[in-house]
Amino acid sequence: MRRVAVLTSGGDAPGMNAAIRAVVRTGIDQGWEVLGTQRGYAGLIAGEMVPLHLRDVGGIIQLGGTVLGSARCPEFRTVAGRQKALGELQRRNIEALIVIGGNGSQTGAYALSEMGFPVVGVASTIDNDLYGSDITIGVDTALNVALEAIDRLKVTASSHHRAFLVEVMGRECGYLALMSALAGGAEAVIIPEIETDPEAVAAELRASYERGKPHALVVVAEGARYNAEGLAGYFEQHRERLGFELRVTILGHVQRGGAPGAFDRLLATRLGAGAVDRLATGEHGVLIGLLKGEVSATPLDEVVAKRKPLDRELLDLAQVLAK
Ligand code: ADP
Repeated sequence: MRRVAVLTSGGDAPGMNAAIRAVVRTGIDQGWEVLGTQRGYAGLIAGEMVPLHLRDVGGIIQLGGTVLGSARCPEFRTVAGRQKALGELQRRNIEALIVIGGNGSQTGAYALSEMGFPVVGVASTIDNDLYGSDITIGVDTALNVALEAIDRLKVTASSHHRAFLVEVMGRECGYLALMSALAGGAEAVIIPEIETDPEAVAAELRASYERGKPHALVVVAEGARYNAEGLAGYFEQHRERLGFELRVTILGHVQRGGAPGAFDRLLATRLGAGAVDRLATGEHGVLIGLLKGEVSATPLDEVVAKRKPLDRELLDLAQVLAK
């Protein structure tokens, strides 16, 4: 192996830069040349690749986002688009590609590897919806951002005897919402994996009010059937029904933008280095993630085909602790 490329794709996640840095420096340590691809698969198709040297990745470990840029690229979903990308890689004698990204990005990585090109994925998304990694790059930082917001909202909620519906990201996955609810001490949590009856939420809030709670906080996953706005609409006459007056806060992209904390910097560093290690031993077509505390490789076909199950015990615990 002489030359590899690295890109970041899909939703950005705090820690992507630490992963890029680890790939570049461990790759150079192997004696390889490492090229950085701008704007994910869009830059790959357009041939936007530049060599990255040791100093080019200095001073980025502490930065959120990605210095390589990211993009969503519909063209890469087509065989013609991926063939263009392959042409650009082959023209530069690039022998392997490392894809740092989430579910969609790893589906793209699998599609490219199915066309015969060596690809290794690095598990990176704040949604934590990737099979093959118990926790993915960016989750911990995003959770801490959500918690800071929840803690602040509780203070203002208590002063006014209000209930807050706080919407967090996570697409079709309730992980961020469930963990935010547990760590933030929420009164209820609503996630896509479990059908929630708004009447049950209303009863919970009313009961909290009658138990004398000064506030109530409901964490709602963006992908749930009733998102925060939907629920607020459902409880139109909130004061009379719930006891509390209701407010909605949508955290949205604020959760993506944090500087990576210690956990994400270390995870990204280990996974980035793990991707280079595997490639160096000739392994590819796999996702590098953290399983039971170990840097592990899972075949991309499995990653694409399987879903990470929700931890029902933690959901039950969140409900008990809300009392
Ligand atoms: P994330 O990686 O954060 O889940 P997306 O779902 O937006 O982000 O996916 C990022 C990119 O991955 C897409 O814009 C597209 O270029 C590529 N991609 C997603 N799904 C596929 C697919 N089925 N085949 C090929 N490429 C895909």
